[in-house]
Amino acid sequence: MAKGRVSIVVERCKACGFCVEFCPSHVLALSSTFNSKGYHPPHAVHPEKCSGCDLCGMYCPDFAICATKTDAPKKADPAKEGDK
Ligand code: SF4
Ligand code: SF4
Repeated sequence: MAKGRVSIVVERCKACGFCVEFCPSHVLALSSTFNSKGYHPPHAVHPEKCSGCDLCGMYCPDFAICATKTDAPKKADPAKEGDK
């Protein structure tokens, strides 16, 4: 199961490929579709492998991609704590 989720803002992408190249889990590939500027944005070909490390977001010069962790530790339920 994926530990992270990657989001791509297709219209900001200039297809430099940094995110594809530097993703340690090989989640991404440049798509064959074009955005309105004529670039091929990335898409997640293996979303289940995403760790949510956000390296793609750190390398992207155009702030076109970012990721979040999906396995955040569960917080105590405050409703139950008041049940004492
Ligand atoms: S968050 Fe990490 S594992 Fe997920 S796509 Fe970005 S670089 Fe790859
Ligand atoms: S690093 Fe950013 S601009 Fe470059 S291909 Fe990836 S999303 Fe597009």
